[in-house]
Amino acid sequence: MNINNEKNTEQKVHFMSYYDDITGIPNRKMFTEKFQELINNNSNSKSQLGIIFFDIDNFKNINDTYGHEIGDEILLKLCERIENILDGRQTFARFGGDEFVIAFSNIINEKEINEFLDELLLKVRKPFEVNNKKIYCTISIGVSVYPKDADRLDILLKTADMAMHKAKEEGKNRYKFFDVEISNILKRQYEIEKALRTAIENNEIFMVFQPKISIKGEKVNGFEALVRWVNNELGFISPAEFIPIAENSGLIIDLGKYIIEESFKKCSELCCSTKSKFHIAINISDIQLREEGFISFVSEMLEKYNIPPEYIEFEITEGVIMQSVVKNIELLIELKRLGVSIALDDFGTGYSSLSYLKRLPIDVLKIDKSFVDGIGVDEKSEYIAESIIKLSHSLNLRVVAEGVETKEQLGYLNKMKCDVAQGYYFSKPEKFEVIKEMI
Ligand code: C2E
Ligand code: CA
Ligand code: CA
Repeated sequence: MNINNEKNTEQKVHFMSYYDDITGIPNRKMFTEKFQELINNNSNSKSQLGIIFFDIDNFKNINDTYGHEIGDEILLKLCERIENILDGRQTFARFGGDEFVIAFSNIINEKEINEFLDELLLKVRKPFEVNNKKIYCTISIGVSVYPKDADRLDILLKTADMAMHKAKEEGKNRYKFFDVEISNILKRQYEIEKALRTAIENNEIFMVFQPKISIKGEKVNGFEALVRWVNNELGFISPAEFIPIAENSGLIIDLGKYIIEESFKKCSELCCSTKSKFHIAINISDIQLREEGFISFVSEMLEKYNIPPEYIEFEITEGVIMQSVVKNIELLIELKRLGVSIALDDFGTGYSSLSYLKRLPIDVLKIDKSFVDGIGVDEKSEYIAESIIKLSHSLNLRVVAEGVETKEQLGYLNKMKCDVAQGYYFSKPEKFEVIKEMI
C-alpha cells in the first residue's frame, strides 16, 4: 500500500465515522466533539449557544406514500437548503432518522436566533421537486440555550427535544424555546405516567356511567361507561388528561382491557336485575383497536360474562378512524361481526369526511357537545346539528346528542327528531350503584 492509498483509506474511515452517509453532513459523533470545542471557546464570553433540534413533520407519511428512496432524497435536498442559510456560526448535524441538530454559537441577542429560525422554517416549506413530483414538508423545532437551560449537551438536547414536542402539539411547522412551563407540563406528564403504571393493581381505577335517554318517551336506553382515576398523591385526574398519556406510553392496552372487563361485569349484573333492553357504550382508542388480539379479547369477555353482544356498543372518535381509514374500517367490520354496535364519537370535530361516512361500518353517530352548546346561541351550530341529524337518518344511523344541559337544547333536538340525548340535563356520570336504579 503506498502512502496515497493509505491516506485515502484513512480519509474514508474518518468520513464514515464522522459524517452521515445519506446527507453527507456531520453525524452525532462529530457534533458532540464540535460542541465541546464550542463550549471551551465560549467559556469566557457573555455570549450564548443555542441548540436547535428539529424533525420533519409526518416524515413517516412521506416514506409511506412515496417510498424510502424519495424519503432519502428529501433528506438530502433539505440539508442542501439548510446549508445554504448557514453562515459559519452554526454546526449542523443529522442525529438519525429525520432528526437534525444545529448548534448556533456566539448569540449575543435573541433576535439573531429568531431570525435564523424564521428563515429555516421558510426555506423548508417550499416544495421539493423529486421525480417530477412536488412534495411539501414542514419541520417542528425545539430550542434550548446554553448556559441558561443547562450546561451539558445531553440535557440541552433533551430539553430542546421537549420543546420540539410542544411545538408539534401546538400545530407543527413552528419553533418553541424550552421554558419553565414546558418543564412543568412534562414533569406532570411524567408523574401521571409513573402513577398510572400501578393504578390498576392499587384499585385506583373505576367506572362511572352516564345515562342515555331516548328523546321520544324520555326513557333510559343505555349508558356510557367513563373511566375515573383517583390517586393518593395526585388526587382526581381527568380522563381527558390521562388517556392521551396512556395512549402515548402504551399503558392504554392494559388499562383498556381493564375498562372493558369492568364495564362487562357491570353490564352482566344489570342484565340480571332488569328485563329492559339497554346497552353499555365503552370508549376505545385506535391503539386498542389495532392491538393484535383485541377482537378475540372482546369475544372472550362476552363469553366469560355471558353478555348478549347487542348490549355492547363501542365508541370511537371520528379523528381516530380517519387517521388510517382502510385498516380501521376492516377492524371495525370484524368487531361488528361479534354482534356489538359501533358509535362514531365527537362527530363534527375531526376531519368530517362526509364521503367516508357511507363506508364506515357504524350504527350510531354522536353529535359533539360543541354543536349542542350552540343551540339557541348561534345559528351555525343549529344548522350543523340539524344537518348531521338529517344526514344520519338518511344513512340509517341513530343519532345521539351529547352534552345536553338545558331544556331548550332538548326541545330543539326533539324538534329535529334526534333519537337520543345524553348530558347533565338528565344526569352526570354516576357510580354503578346509583345508575342501577335508573333503569
Ligand atoms: P367523551 O367520550 O366525549 O365523553 C363525554 C365527556 O363529556 C365525559 O367527560 C362526560 O362526563 C362529559 N359530559 C357529559 N355530559 C356533559 C354535559 O352535559 N356537560 C358537560 N360539560 N360535560 C358533559 P369525561 O368523563 O371527563 O371524559 C372525557 C373524555 O375522556 C371522553 O370524552 C373520552 O374521550 C375520554 N374517556 C373517558 N373515559 C374513557 C374510557 O373509558 N376509555 C377511553 N379510551 N377514553 C375515555
Ligand atoms: Ca364517548
Ligand atoms: Ca364525545
